[in-house]
Amino acid sequence: LERKLLQAQKMETLGRLTAGLAHDFNNILMGIQGFITLAQMKLGERHPVNSYLRKAYKSSERAAEIVRKLLTFVKKYPQESYPIDLVRFFRESEELLRLTAGEGVRLKLEAPEEPLHVLASEDDLTQILLNLVTNAREAMPQGGELWIGLRKDGQRALLEIEDTGVGIPSENLPHIFDPFFTTKELGSGLGLSVVYGLVKALGGEIEVQSTPGKGTLFRIAFPLFQS
Ligand code: ADP
Ligand code: MG
Repeated sequence: LERKLLQAQKMETLGRLTAGLAHDFNNILMGIQGFITLAQMKLGERHPVNSYLRKAYKSSERAAEIVRKLLTFVKKYPQESYPIDLVRFFRESEELLRLTAGEGVRLKLEAPEEPLHVLASEDDLTQILLNLVTNAREAMPQGGELWIGLRKDGQRALLEIEDTGVGIPSENLPHIFDPFFTTKELGSGLGLSVVYGLVKALGGEIEVQSTPGKGTLFRIAFPLFQS
């Protein structure tokens, strides 16, 4: 429980930090862009230094884009919930899941006939699926199998995602949901912490089983919605 509390606090802190930083950063960037524009006006179009200034401006625009993404990430977390049929959502997400899984991955989907209603938002559910499927794909650089199943378990809906990828060494398991924990050269380490935060916000639970060299299973349980 203490660990869960800590995780929730970390996510909340991360959100506040990000929003604050993004705001400050944006103001600074506006200043930089303003002065670059002024310098360009003073020097005139043909001045040789202008090409450097254009590059500086381009870089500042890239930074502004990153800030914008950070802000939407913070704002989108989490969305307002409403009753959703997970089975229907699952079917409608199939194409997106195939695209995300990539060509080298054989994707198998399994869902029951009857609807499974949960309180959630499609955006949050999509985010959860995309982050997990992206990790699965990255765990199978040589291709493999990805199985995604949905089923009813008592008063809960279970969403399971199993890959045949590299697996997670047991010493890493306690850290994978931590913000910024990554074993990838270009990883953000944010994917699973966002999944964790969203699942918790939706009243769900997430667990993981992994065997290095064999694969990984993520299991998410959502409380069923009763009207
Ligand atoms: P990132 O993908 O940017 O590294 P994540 O939060 O999505 O960040 O994942 C954190 C870490 O958890 C990954 O770097 C990887 O070590 C491990 N991981 C997550 N999903 C899987 C998976 N399906 N198979 C193997 N390792 C995984
Ligand atoms: Mg990831």
